[in-house]
Amino acid sequence: MDKILEVKDLNISFHTYAGEVKAVRGISFDLNKGETLALVGESGCGKTVTAKAILRLLKTPPAEIKKGSQILFDGEDVVQMNKKRLLSYRGEDVAMIFQDPMTSLNPTMTVGKQIMESLQIHKKMSKKEAEQEAVKLLKLVNIPNAEERVKQYPHELSGGMRQRIMIAIALSCNPKVLIADEPTTALDVTIQAQIIDLLRELKEKFDTSIILVTHDLGVVANFADRIQVMYAGSIVETGTKEEIFYNSQHPYTWALLNSVPSIDKKSKEELYSLGGTPPDLILPLEGCPFTSRCEHAMEICKERKPVDTCLSDTHRVSCWLQHPDAPKVKRPVSFGG
Ligand code: SF4
Repeated sequence: MDKILEVKDLNISFHTYAGEVKAVRGISFDLNKGETLALVGESGCGKTVTAKAILRLLKTPPAEIKKGSQILFDGEDVVQMNKKRLLSYRGEDVAMIFQDPMTSLNPTMTVGKQIMESLQIHKKMSKKEAEQEAVKLLKLVNIPNAEERVKQYPHELSGGMRQRIMIAIALSCNPKVLIADEPTTALDVTIQAQIIDLLRELKEKFDTSIILVTHDLGVVANFADRIQVMYAGSIVETGTKEEIFYNSQHPYTWALLNSVPSIDKKSKEELYSLGGTPPDLILPLEGCPFTSRCEHAMEICKERKPVDTCLSDTHRVSCWLQHPDAPKVKRPVSFGG
């Protein structure tokens, strides 16, 4: 498969008064053309920082993309791009949809003007052409009365509509990669499903590759091709959707899967919540970062970082349970096969 994006040994730190926070720790992954890749993990695991780094949106300082890190878009190193190239890269090559459209949209401009701005800057359209295109884009993201809606301000629209506007702006320049950072978090469940359906439909139409950033494995179940689970700045498991849902091998992935509400779970008691907190990323991490929260932790887990084990061409896990001498642990059966 052709790769559109390659991330190699990405290390990102934040320099704070308390010390250097190593938020992303040497992660590597690819995004194939036409693929949807989900980056999954709880708050602070490094998934949004990674997404922002791909667009060079991190404020430096305090953030620092460490030497040796590479982010290749179609072979071109994003870390080395100059300001002029970055301007066209953002929007025309890679675009991002943020979690909360209310804070991303400009409250003092009509939504039509905000879509037009992007078209006039990137596609050099005239005002009239951009006006017509803005209406077309609103129709494309299923906003009714598009001719009227373009004249409205963000506060006059519902949360779901505002997110559709964000999607319209992101797609206005036909980017090859779309990064959606928790695109459904601020929405109710019915609207969440509609937004995911819309993204799926548009992905097919525009042949876009998507990186979906989320803390909720339930959101990716019907959408992602591959899933990458992150914990404490590292990738702990990666695999196809089927491998993660039906044959995951990392205890943290099991915890995430267990916390997805299911219609099979009949009582409140059955809803799972992972105890403890992630490690402090300022302190040096020895051993497996999940040790303090893992019910299967062994002595070696405290001392040595687990090595990656390849379970198939697409399935990789970083856990000492894969070692031939480790005790055999039965995968929980409350999800998957
Ligand atoms: Fe748990 Fe050890 Fe595996 Fe880490 S390496 S997830 S502590 S069993």
